[in-house]
Amino acid sequence: MKYYSTNHQAPPATLAEAVKKGLAPDRGLYMPERIDRLPEKFFRDIENLDFHEIAAAVATSFFGEDIPADAIGKIVCDTLCFDTPVVNVCGDIFSLELFHGPTLAFKDVGGRFMARMLSYFIGKEDAGRKVTVIVATSGDTGSAVANGFLGVKGIDVIVLYPEGKVSEIQEKQFTTLGQNITALEVAGNFDDCQRLVKSAFMDEELNSILTLTSANSINVARFLPQAFYYFNAYAQLKREGKAKDVVFCVPSGNFGNITAGLVAWRMGLPVRRFIAANNRNDIFLKYLETGRYEPRPSVQTIANAMDVGDPSNFARIMEMYGHSVDAVRKDISGCSYTDGEIRKTIGEVFRKYGYILDPHGACGFQGLSDNLEKGETGVFLETAHPAKFKDTVESILGQPVPVPQKLKDFMSREKKSIRISNRFEDFRQYLKDRSTE
Ligand SMILES: *Cc1c(COP(=O)(O)O)cnc(C)c1O
Repeated sequence: MKYYSTNHQAPPATLAEAVKKGLAPDRGLYMPERIDRLPEKFFRDIENLDFHEIAAAVATSFFGEDIPADAIGKIVCDTLCFDTPVVNVCGDIFSLELFHGPTLAFKDVGGRFMARMLSYFIGKEDAGRKVTVIVATSGDTGSAVANGFLGVKGIDVIVLYPEGKVSEIQEKQFTTLGQNITALEVAGNFDDCQRLVKSAFMDEELNSILTLTSANSINVARFLPQAFYYFNAYAQLKREGKAKDVVFCVPSGNFGNITAGLVAWRMGLPVRRFIAANNRNDIFLKYLETGRYEPRPSVQTIANAMDVGDPSNFARIMEMYGHSVDAVRKDISGCSYTDGEIRKTIGEVFRKYGYILDPHGACGFQGLSDNLEKGETGVFLETAHPAKFKDTVESILGQPVPVPQKLKDFMSREKKSIRISNRFEDFRQYLKDRSTE
């Protein structure tokens, strides 16, 4: 299977090239050249399959021409070391809980899958050669990437983060890991971290002594595996006799998660429609309303992983719908919530149903609550555990949020980081010194 760029100015790439490059040379996003429908039989029997079997079938549809079945099976099993249960919250509204992974957020699925696929391609090419993944983070990406790559053979990870500007929980999730993960605490802000990473990729001498890769969220190996849990959710609903007229509501920022759901739909998953839930960063909702896509600087909200003013996966949605806003409107509707509304939802859902939402999932719940029609079954994606946003959620509930053991374990470990300045020369020297160790 080949991958083409959404900008159509770069040659088609093999899977290995698309995974190693991340972004196409024309700065477009890679898309699979075909999205094949899975056989009817698969959907007929889906309730008898477990998550690993479902995910392996979906992964084989994309990667089966490039990776042998046993290797795909292993990557899938290693990636999905946790479940994604569907839980009833009230009436016809269900929560697809994507927070049971190592960092308690849905990005664990894509992060872990990509790490293993990259390791597979590197191992095939040249055993013994190390690849260095460098990633700048303002908080959550660092933890999903670092934990995804933890202990993966042939790969070193360097996380750059701004000193004093990430929450303690976030910091602990990538500074306490050890093994092949190094955290660099940069005296500067997130933009400084990003600048250092970009400069390293452009530095010829560095690239001649080190094999540098990014772990960008737009990578096809992070994007496509997110389709797995839509199928798994459907299987669970089918077991409960609730699989008719399913509506997925997806709290969206960069729109990778919802685009993977649209891909699942193209593969034949029986879905009625999708809702994209936004916080005040409502660029997509405005696009649905006006037909014009007008990116603007993001504003800060309590659902901060959705604070995106120019969602990168919009390009993929445009490709899938032939750039037609009418075609998009047929399949996807939108909604947007203020911080005040998000708080109100979290409080009400807890008081009425005893379910604790995180600020992102709250947008998803409210999107269903406001838009679900009679006879439809609504599923919102609960994209993170509420304890990751402990202070916010506790201030709303007025009582402590239970903290999962996994998170407690991170908090009790010792932070290890290396402090560097925000000057590229210092980062460059650090990378050179590492390469000669
Ligand atoms: C990243 C993230 C989102 C947004 O997902 P996209 O794929 O960027 O739309 C929503 N919620 C949480 C908790 C996230 O970490």
